[in-house]
Amino acid sequence: MISYGRQTIDQSDIDAVIDVLKSDYLTQGPAVETFEKSLLEKFGPGFCSVVSNGTAALHITGLALGWSENDIIIMSPLTFLATSNSVLYCGATPDFCDINREDYTIDLNKLEKKIKSYEQKGKKVKAVIGVDFAGHPCDWSSLRAIADKYNLQLVNDNCHAAGASYKGKINYALNYADVVTHSYHPVKPLTTGEGGAIFTKDKGLDSQIKKLRSHGMVKDENKMKEKGTWFYEMRSLGFNYRLSDIHAALGTSQLKKLEEFTIKRNSIAGIYNDSLKNKLNMTLPLASADVSHSYHLYPLLIDFEKENLNKVEFFFEMKKKGINLQVHYIPIHLQPFYKQRFNYKAGDFPVAEDFYNKEVSLPIFPSLLSEEQEHVLKSLDELLK
Ligand SMILES: *Cc1c(COP(=O)(O)O)cnc(C)c1O
Repeated sequence: MISYGRQTIDQSDIDAVIDVLKSDYLTQGPAVETFEKSLLEKFGPGFCSVVSNGTAALHITGLALGWSENDIIIMSPLTFLATSNSVLYCGATPDFCDINREDYTIDLNKLEKKIKSYEQKGKKVKAVIGVDFAGHPCDWSSLRAIADKYNLQLVNDNCHAAGASYKGKINYALNYADVVTHSYHPVKPLTTGEGGAIFTKDKGLDSQIKKLRSHGMVKDENKMKEKGTWFYEMRSLGFNYRLSDIHAALGTSQLKKLEEFTIKRNSIAGIYNDSLKNKLNMTLPLASADVSHSYHLYPLLIDFEKENLNKVEFFFEMKKKGINLQVHYIPIHLQPFYKQRFNYKAGDFPVAEDFYNKEVSLPIFPSLLSEEQEHVLKSLDELLK
């Protein structure tokens, strides 16, 4: 079965993990720091904390930024559940803003209107989370300008876009957002199995984050001299969100191949683009002028109505041909939990909903074989006009 995404693991990844298994530390050892250093070489300068997954990264990002009751955090509904759930974990309120039709990231005109309408009701938006959807960065310089104008915190949920560039820079994210988060789940641009990371340029925020990922514990060297080598203090409530050395070693090994992975994803996307550009009733995911796409996903839009085709049937037919497509994402405001809790309804974010009705994530990952891609294209040809 050809899936929409999967990991690409080679012998050097396997060797890196075996080395840790034979070493003194399976967790809280040197491989964690090595991974953080190599992440900063690519995405810094700044500070980096690796954590147990991308959801944990978003959770303690919110806590470190002080999100709590009465705080409103805005994001697009076209993201994974973790983006808004993590706001709820902090006790704050998530709200959504529709996507634009060009690159499917947050619509900045609608965002500014939303912030203003909150202000008119005497409420202040605390933060915006930009999601670099499918590997296409948001319009970060405009987003930064809005954040500065209205004094908002800015987070980049960068889980799709490690490897993408904006205005020529692969390390663009920290130039605009106060905090940047990654996920290293197997379908993401690089993997540690489960894992994530948090980046910031703010030393104070970083030390908060490092405390939060390990129970709120602090080992102060000066106090240890006075009170004993065993001494530790808990000053705030934290979690065990650490990443193990086994995971971290896999991450360091994967990171060395990120550029190669991104090139491969772009070449697969290029073949889809060339093969599908003349087809009817389709919209292809193209990159804006100042963006180099990382194609974490290849979100193809098919106008099923015009095709006279049922999307559910289409997915079943593709599955019969050995192709397991996916949809990214069911807009979060349509989930039963969010509908009940916040009274959202169909029609609230029409562009995201229209996108959802049409979207099909085609298989794209570095180890996808060209025969497999040909089979996907041939199958599309057979089922579509
Ligand atoms: C994958 C993902 C997450 C969550 O990451 P996990 O490592 O699975 O917890 C959050 N946001 C986005 C946009 C993602 O794609």
